[in-house]
Amino acid sequence: MNRYSPNNLKRPSKGLINIHPIQRGGILTEEARKILLEWADGYSVCDVCLEGRVDLLRNPPVDELKQDVAEFLGMDTARFTAGARHAKFAVMSAFQRGTLVLDSLAHYTSYTSAELNDMRVFEVPNSGYPDFRVDPEMYAETFERVREETGSYPDLALLTHVDYRYGNLADAERVGKICEEYEVLFVLNTAYSSGVMEVNGKKLRTAFIVASGHKSWAATAPIGILATNYELSDRVFRTSKMRGDWSGRAFTKKELAVFGCSPVFGLPVMTLMASFPGVVERVKHWNEEIEKARWFVREMEKIEGVQLIGERPKNHTLMHFESPAFHSIAKKHRKRGYFLYHELKKRGVFGVQAGMTKNFKVNIYGLSWEDLDKVVSAFKDIAENYGVEVED
Ligand SMILES: *Cc1c(COP(=O)(O)O)cnc(C)c1O
Repeated sequence: MNRYSPNNLKRPSKGLINIHPIQRGGILTEEARKILLEWADGYSVCDVCLEGRVDLLRNPPVDELKQDVAEFLGMDTARFTAGARHAKFAVMSAFQRGTLVLDSLAHYTSYTSAELNDMRVFEVPNSGYPDFRVDPEMYAETFERVREETGSYPDLALLTHVDYRYGNLADAERVGKICEEYEVLFVLNTAYSSGVMEVNGKKLRTAFIVASGHKSWAATAPIGILATNYELSDRVFRTSKMRGDWSGRAFTKKELAVFGCSPVFGLPVMTLMASFPGVVERVKHWNEEIEKARWFVREMEKIEGVQLIGERPKNHTLMHFESPAFHSIAKKHRKRGYFLYHELKKRGVFGVQAGMTKNFKVNIYGLSWEDLDKVVSAFKDIAENYGVEVED
């Protein structure tokens, strides 16, 4: 059992600049770090629970947080979920055996949520290599295709605001308008956007906003957000109607889609709370993040053969590169595809997936210019050491 001793529980990325795509927006704020020990025990938030639901707690102020988060997203109300995936599952559970249209860059959890709810799924195509754009007008076309095949328009249309493969920012406003015209409920998956950039459901005409606390709101996993409007809230947050046939017990206040109370207590909700003021502030500085991302692309593309895939210019800090030169090195290298991972680690940079050289993804969100420069220098240095040309 020595393997589990605290001395042996060291994080592989400790002390390194972590550019792993999923890590940047989940790094805790200073404020969240300060409350870690106090709220770390089990059901810590449940000390004073009067109503039997985490989202109604007054102390700590989870009820208030839920409303502040909803308002921040331009929605009427919200609940905390076990992640973006559970938020999607919760929405779809109110439309079981219905029809769902989603973009072809959607996350696997959009498909698994649909499958678990027996939904019929229709994909909106994307433009393919090299920019993989989703054309909003294709939503209208797909709605028509759904009507031809099923006799009616879909129940839900899901758009991945920023996709996890290319970091493309979809035109949510246009998709929202189309959904409004067709009277299809619009689900916006903001796992990679809300919490780092401004997202306003009123402006985007969303029926549901799905968010990921551990991916983009500086919170400890697992926590997600499902925000909606008053008209839909009773449907998606419907309460229990069951009665025990022998005991006669009933649970009329418990909401089904969040397992009665909430799947998140303790640190997930408390770190989200402590980080929230910082998150509200940081989304105002998104432009600087884009500026850094575009600079990063220019510098990386000075390395022979390195090329950004996905939309350009970048509108997000998650990016995907092709790098045939690194791939050629890997073919001859003793460590094969793992050489890039090791070379980066030697230079203090962590997070490019081990084994990847032909393509790789990085996320530079929240890096200082100084750290960003270290990352660029590491890539360039590795290239030069293996005889790959780097422009000045
Ligand atoms: C990361 C990601 C998810 C999963 O988020 P969880 O909060 O971990 O469930 C869902 N959708 C997209 C687009 C993602 O990038």
